[in-house]
Amino acid sequence: MIVFATNNAHKLAEVRQIAGPEAEIKSMSEIGCHDDIPETATTLEGNAKLKACYVSERFGCDCFADDTGLEVEALGGAPGVYSARYAGDGHDSKANMAKLLMQMQGETNRRARFRTVIALSRDGEVKMVEGIVEGKIAETPCGVDGFGYDPIFIPDEGSGLTFAEMTAAEKNAISHRGRAMSKLLDII
Ligand code: IMP
Repeated sequence: MIVFATNNAHKLAEVRQIAGPEAEIKSMSEIGCHDDIPETATTLEGNAKLKACYVSERFGCDCFADDTGLEVEALGGAPGVYSARYAGDGHDSKANMAKLLMQMQGETNRRARFRTVIALSRDGEVKMVEGIVEGKIAETPCGVDGFGYDPIFIPDEGSGLTFAEMTAAEKNAISHRGRAMSKLLDII
């Protein structure tokens, strides 16, 4: 049994689908942890480690946590580690996308990438893995599936579709989280 330290139901569903039914992945609420863990670090690595250690130290279990950032080339890597709060503390995906599209108005360089860092806290040790998907920012949102910035991210390997226009399996096969998870599954 291993705990995935997230309160994001979309992430939990993705990770369970990627790992398959034989991996016994528990959510935080399933172990009685209902805390909103503050993400106070200034890097994806720092936040992933902080979340994984918070749960493993308090609940005495193996735990992993991810932190993801959308890094836009023309914006110098922003929103990056601040992707969840780009348009304010509300963690509002629609507002975040609207702000990003506004910043990118008239910009011809639309290169971007999603980067996921997963920290695994086990037996008093922390290990990190990373997954990256390269792509570009769409001119307008497209698609209804997925979550977060999915409607405005077009991966290079997706025939021009946004992540939100793909099935979960199609997204997971090429996504930042899918890639980081397959590295994690190799070490657990
Ligand atoms: P965090 O890893 O929960 O801090 O996520 C950072 C931000 O990126 C949030 O706004 C998420 O909604 C967004 N995000 C994380 N993973 C994905 C993804 O797979 N697709 C689109 N947006 C994502």
